[in-house]
Amino acid sequence: METQSILIKNVTMPLSPVKKGSVLIENDLILEIGPDGGDQADVVIDGEGKVLIPGLVNTHTHLSMTLLRGMADDLPLQTWLEDYIWPAEAHLEGDHCYAGALLAALEMIRTGTTCCNDMYFFMDEVARALDEAGLRGVVSHGMIDTGDEEKRKKEIRETQRIIDKCHNTAEGRITVALGPHAPYTCSEELLRWSREKANQEDLQIHIHVSETEGEVQNVLESTQKRPFEYLDSLGLLGPDILAAHAVWLSEGEIKLIKERGVKLSHNPVSNMKLASGISPVTRLVEKGVCVSLGTDGAASNNNLDLFQEMKTATLLQKVNLMDPTVLPAGKVMEMATSDGAAALGLEDEIGTIEVGKKADLVLVNMMAPHLTPQRSPLSHLVYSAGGSDVDTVICNGQILMQEKEVLVLDPVEVMEMAQGASEDLLQEVR
Ligand SMILES: [Zn+2]
Repeated sequence: METQSILIKNVTMPLSPVKKGSVLIENDLILEIGPDGGDQADVVIDGEGKVLIPGLVNTHTHLSMTLLRGMADDLPLQTWLEDYIWPAEAHLEGDHCYAGALLAALEMIRTGTTCCNDMYFFMDEVARALDEAGLRGVVSHGMIDTGDEEKRKKEIRETQRIIDKCHNTAEGRITVALGPHAPYTCSEELLRWSREKANQEDLQIHIHVSETEGEVQNVLESTQKRPFEYLDSLGLLGPDILAAHAVWLSEGEIKLIKERGVKLSHNPVSNMKLASGISPVTRLVEKGVCVSLGTDGAASNNNLDLFQEMKTATLLQKVNLMDPTVLPAGKVMEMATSDGAAALGLEDEIGTIEVGKKADLVLVNMMAPHLTPQRSPLSHLVYSAGGSDVDTVICNGQILMQEKEVLVLDPVEVMEMAQGASEDLLQEVR
């Protein structure tokens, strides 16, 4: 492969030791960060008036659920799931998942997300969409056996198929994780199998834990333990576990999460929209737990904009604790970048602007009324900006969007395909 270099010059970098200067990218890596000088690169991007941040990391998504966006709002969780989401999902085919994931990929590019952690179905189709979009992702087949042995075998077979087909593909941008859906939908056998498989093949485990109070009660009744205690009794907890939600936690569970090195994905918008509750994020962060950010699926958010998620995360903690000093902008920005990378075990590759790391970078245009006067870039990014302020996106050294023009996908084609797939899917339900 021929060497390809990109120089981003005159750019402000609030999250790098060099606050203003240039970044030189060679192939997939950041080669140099320093003061401005020289124009020696295949592509030169002028960063004047822009801020460079690491590509955002969305640690809990169901990308293909973009097809279900807006179909059932303002409903209680069980009604939402049982009457709307599950009946629609029962008719899902690979083509739907591909179209939905491609739409999600387009939305992520437009809003500055370069890496996601996705759990759903037909994950080879999701991986294909991410690959075509040039994005990075960890994909897991969501396994649900509800104690049925035949179902368990089927789920394990599908997971193996996805590992064989997708793990470490797309120049290393796509990896596969294990996806036992949740402690209340998976049998003890399936959870134990996930731990063994993770150890054997050095894979991450992506699981929902303690999203709702009702689910904690269910696990308490059936196992006499709280969800994290139950998972620990099976030997499941460890630094390779990414637990999504973690809303309802006891003090003992917080201690356990810290001791086992479990990583969390906080999804404030989804938790608020479904009225699931408020995760004790401030307490977790104080304890030194790695808390990253996720949007959850578009059916319960209803978008994939991590800028909104950052602002919501900090506002929710402030009002909940009646303390405006908690979760300051700098920390929230870390949750969406370096903590997200660490949550996926990718801290050596992405999440910061550092020499030797993968070139997953996002330029935000600060020349806008709502971002004026130019003052603290971190404050503006968290409290004033939105995903639509993203100007240029680079992932693995490839420019995916430049000055708001998406180079890797045809946006109109992608939206039309998703519209068609959504109509096809929902027509089956009615
Ligand atoms: Zn979820």
